Amino acid sequence: MNNNFNKSSDIKKQNIIIDTADITKTYKIGDIEVKALRGINLKISEGEFVSIMGPSGSGKSTLMNIIGCLDIPTSGDYFLENIDVSKLNDNQLADIRNKKVGFVFQTFNLLTKANAIHNVELPLIYSKDKIRNKDKKIRVALKSVGLKGWEKHRPSELSGGERQRVAIARSLVNDPTILLTDEPTGNLDSVTGEEIMAIFQKLNKKGKTILLVTHELDVAQHTHRIVYLRDGIISNQEKIENPIDAEERLKQMPKLEDKMNSLRKSKVL
Ligand code: ADP
Ligand code: MG
Repeated sequence: MNNNFNKSSDIKKQNIIIDTADITKTYKIGDIEVKALRGINLKISEGEFVSIMGPSGSGKSTLMNIIGCLDIPTSGDYFLENIDVSKLNDNQLADIRNKKVGFVFQTFNLLTKANAIHNVELPLIYSKDKIRNKDKKIRVALKSVGLKGWEKHRPSELSGGERQRVAIARSLVNDPTILLTDEPTGNLDSVTGEEIMAIFQKLNKKGKTILLVTHELDVAQHTHRIVYLRDGIISNQEKIENPIDAEERLKQMPKLEDKMNSLRKSKVL
């Protein structure tokens, strides 16, 4: 147990961009109240890569929704880059969300009939401000996830890993303050999942702050810090001294092609 984690001096020195103060969230379904969050104090510094773990129902998605400005807490304050977003109305919340938050989901959530460019363009279309250099921003985002040359492909013409890369490019195109991702490797095989973790690590090394929800310890061990949730409170936090390096691990893993060839040889395929 380390309840003083947020007070640790190495975090204090850095620029805190996410700061939740005693956040609670209670859902009301008829007469029944569900206390999904019961007092969350979490600080995340600029440039950190943090994972959230916890059993199903522990409040992970609820916390992500609040941090991502999709919802507001029942009580407590939430400061995103020193703006108290816990009291904003729906329009103000949508505006902050569009500017400051990028989302990547387990199920990719791409428009099936739109090609990679048009999927990545979406956050720019929703933006209230006039966007300059739109085409360049889209191209840069796609290139940063290794999809140069795949711009005109629709999701149905892409593998699961490539679809998730499109989703990551979409989350980056507005250059958000924070990238939030809920089980991003949950629908992928282990090699492809590792490739996606390599992309997140590369983005983080370039300075992007990332918050990742996972139920796999192995995935969480790629990050700098694991926050454990239980019954709507932070039950523990753990600093990862030597995070798993996804690029290094990929070198040790068999390529999908090699796997297919060996299956063909053994006449399984
Ligand atoms: P996790 O993502 O860790 O599985 P959630 O944040 O989804 O947990 O849920 C936390 C608790 O809040 C659960 O008991 C869940 O049933 C409840 N809950 C989540 N969303 C809603 C909602 N929209 N309405 C009512 N209850 C909800
Ligand atoms: Mg969830």
